[in-house]
Amino acid sequence: MEDVREVRVDTPWGDPSAPVAIGSVGERPVAFLPRHGQKHQFPSHRVNYRANVWAMKEVGVRRLFGPCAAGSLQPHVKPGEFVICDQLVDRTSGRPSTFYDGPETTHVSFADPYCPTMRDALIAKGHELGIPLHVQGTVVVVEGPRFSTRAESHLYAIQGWEVINMTQSPEAVLARELEICYSNISLITDYDVGVAGKIEAVSQEEVIRVFQDNLGRLRDLLLAVVPELPEERDCPCATALATARFEA
Ligand SMILES: [Zn+2]
Repeated sequence: MEDVREVRVDTPWGDPSAPVAIGSVGERPVAFLPRHGQKHQFPSHRVNYRANVWAMKEVGVRRLFGPCAAGSLQPHVKPGEFVICDQLVDRTSGRPSTFYDGPETTHVSFADPYCPTMRDALIAKGHELGIPLHVQGTVVVVEGPRFSTRAESHLYAIQGWEVINMTQSPEAVLARELEICYSNISLITDYDVGVAGKIEAVSQEEVIRVFQDNLGRLRDLLLAVVPELPEERDCPCATALATARFEA
């Protein structure tokens, strides 16, 4: 990112996790906001997702990448690999997860939570860069901060779901509610406890090493994808509110 400056954004929902860094990648203006704060002081269940997504809208963001560290629920989804998720299952509880608490009633379509245009671009560039990635996957979002029990994890795994994480919800739906395109890149750091088969437990050191390697790849992928996205949006995310309002 070049020509970076930081801006503080006030929102009706309180403070975002940090000031927004604004700069450019090639010709494209970009903004960055660390979801967990500059010192990683906000755990997943305490992140002010509404303030974060609102702040991005406020500075003009139309497409939002929401990368995250994640666990694998399937043996074939290995640590070090990326998953470009196409579905999510929300198992969080008690998180403010809408901008629309009334009196105007708004129900956005969320059948496909991730932007098809962004997903296609990520997959194409990821392949080009030789990044080991899965072109689809379902992420189960758990409340945390604790990890899952073996029984919970096994329940998710036998559904065939691939990824487990603590931040994709409500971030994804809040973006949809503001007609911002949203996509996920899950960086798989380890296997969750309910994965079937004889899989050796990884050490915390190994998890950190895998994560650091992934960060470099993630950066390469984002820098390559941003200039490739079409200027105009013809995806459903761009007009999500057109059919979402019900008049009394
Ligand atoms: Zn879109």
